[in-house]
Amino acid sequence: MANLNIDSVKDRTFDAIVIGSGMSGGWAAKELTGKGLKTLMLERGRDVKHIKDYPTTNMYPWEFEHRGEMPMAVQEANPIVNRCYAFHEDAAHFFVKDKEHPYVQDKPFDWIRGYQVGGKSLLWARQTQRWSDFDFEGPARDGFAVDWPIRYKDIAPWYSYVEKFAGISGNKDGLAELPDGEFLPAFPLNSVEQYFSKHVKSKYSNRHVISARCAHLSKPNQIHLDQGRAQCQERILCQRGCPFGGYFSANSSTIPWALKSGNLTLRPFSVVHSIIYDDKLGKATGVRVVDTNTKETIDYFARIIFVNAAAMNTNLVLLNSTSHRFPNGLGNDSGVLGKYVAFHNYSAHMSAEYDGFKEWTTDGRNPAGGGYIPRFRNVFKQETDFLRGYASGFSAYRRRQRGWDGIGSSLKDNLVNDDLGPWSVGSHMMGETIPKEASYVALDAKLKDDWGVPLLKISMDYDDNDEKMKKDYIEQLTEMFTSAGFTNIQASSDHRAPGLDIHEMGGARMGHDPKTSVLNKWNQVHAVNNVFVTDGACMTSTSCQNPSLTYMALTARAADYAVSEMKKGNI
Ligand SMILES: Cc1cc2nc3c(=O)[nH]c(=O)nc-3n(C[C@H](O)[C@H](O)[C@H](O)COP(=O)(O)OP(=O)(O)OC[C@H]3O[C@@H](n4cnc5c(N)ncnc54)[C@H](O)[C@@H]3O)c2cc1C
Ligand code: SF4
Repeated sequence: MANLNIDSVKDRTFDAIVIGSGMSGGWAAKELTGKGLKTLMLERGRDVKHIKDYPTTNMYPWEFEHRGEMPMAVQEANPIVNRCYAFHEDAAHFFVKDKEHPYVQDKPFDWIRGYQVGGKSLLWARQTQRWSDFDFEGPARDGFAVDWPIRYKDIAPWYSYVEKFAGISGNKDGLAELPDGEFLPAFPLNSVEQYFSKHVKSKYSNRHVISARCAHLSKPNQIHLDQGRAQCQERILCQRGCPFGGYFSANSSTIPWALKSGNLTLRPFSVVHSIIYDDKLGKATGVRVVDTNTKETIDYFARIIFVNAAAMNTNLVLLNSTSHRFPNGLGNDSGVLGKYVAFHNYSAHMSAEYDGFKEWTTDGRNPAGGGYIPRFRNVFKQETDFLRGYASGFSAYRRRQRGWDGIGSSLKDNLVNDDLGPWSVGSHMMGETIPKEASYVALDAKLKDDWGVPLLKISMDYDDNDEKMKKDYIEQLTEMFTSAGFTNIQASSDHRAPGLDIHEMGGARMGHDPKTSVLNKWNQVHAVNNVFVTDGACMTSTSCQNPSLTYMALTARAADYAVSEMKKGNI
């Protein structure tokens, strides 16, 4: 039952509501409050305040009860989240546990979530690349999905805008397939990474190994210091939350900035059940929330609503927002809401050794993670039997090697005097998957969660295109490694379920045509002009670049448009 306390309706009315406080919701809040809108930010999880709520951030390895590992009982109780590489004792408190928030896997899908203020922005690996016209033109060129309603030029100024505030390290590499941005100094490649970069440059005209671009303050500007953030100390404990604000998160950057404006009301413990649509007014008037502590249902009202609950949950909220006008979910005239979801394919890896550069090792840590090989397949022309392409990570390091030879004192000597082994090199594939109608999310007809919201049913899988792409990645990287003189080259595939890449996208895709898409070129629901969706749900296709920077840029762009339309009286 909705709370009908008429006296408090005024207190529950805002200019804008933002659903979700993670990577994209933080930007929506910052932009809307910065433009003077009294904004309510609703977050289903608990509050996490920058610095204060990072309980492990300054702990030494030996201070963890299990030295950082998760106890077997916890691993067994959480088979899904346990597959995420960052689910360890130092950051487990920022991950959703399997049993607490169930969903239905029509096909296996590893749904990795962070339900708290800051969402997954606390946990991300901070890799940030712009998308290029090859990505925005891709569907139209290759004939998959539908045409994006925007091109690179539409979003380029907004990339610059968010990069300057967030702080992105990188080099200007001058590549058409990976546009340059507003960079802080890049973290340098180590000697073997540099060697491979030079080798690839000399051998291939269209392949490059560059310093990974990353949301770290390698050298902060005044705008970062104004946020209360400081230079990255290169500790690589980022997933614990960084007390220096060395990497970008909603907690360290956008949310405190929005709070400083005096225009933000942050309400944690608030599960958004649905968006309220008024059939007579022909617009959304607010959102229905279930307080997770009291289980009370409360309605909040606003002129505009930004949906930023992360791709799958945004689909869930929209599908659950039914009315006389929209019996199948808000704005779902086309029937495509929840369909054409896709993800990235990170399931192939390469490793090898390099016998050279024995006189060098590494010193310090590189929070950017080393090198990045931008997509080189099917960029300037279609050259393979699969659509689209893959980017790759690349890094090199030297491990200490302990000698186990000898007996008695010679064994002891060998054990204490460990030596450096050869350089190990590694790469992982980051492939684009194709959004298909058969890949969908829907509401389960019977099962509901603790707050009366239907469980999400997820159904998507790899296909033949992914298999061909994976094979090509292994062949091409093997060739590149061989020609660089690397030895002991091994390829592996981990047969993971979709989802573990944590780049799920689509379901409420953007498009020109309301008959085949949910959102227009401003991320505005075609049929409900005061609702904007700017997280991964809006993505028409997935590119192979990491997606979060694009969500941020789209959010800032949409917020600017929404406020100008409000001022013109169009919303
Ligand atoms: C380990 C890891 C590594 C990653 N590495 C990278 C990377 O290198 N580069 C990259 O680009 N991306 C990376 N990602 C992905 C990145 O974190 C996400 O793309 C990004 O956080 C998505 O932003 P978002 O705003 O859509 O969602 P989130 O940041 O997840 O925020 C969504 C928020 O909405 C809240 N919410 C959900 N449902 C409701 C509801 N019904 N009512 C109220 N609130 C709700 C959630 O609790 C959450 O706080 C990584 C993620 C993880 C976990
Ligand atoms: S590497 Fe930088 S951002 Fe990460 S924890 Fe260390 S100081 Fe913070």
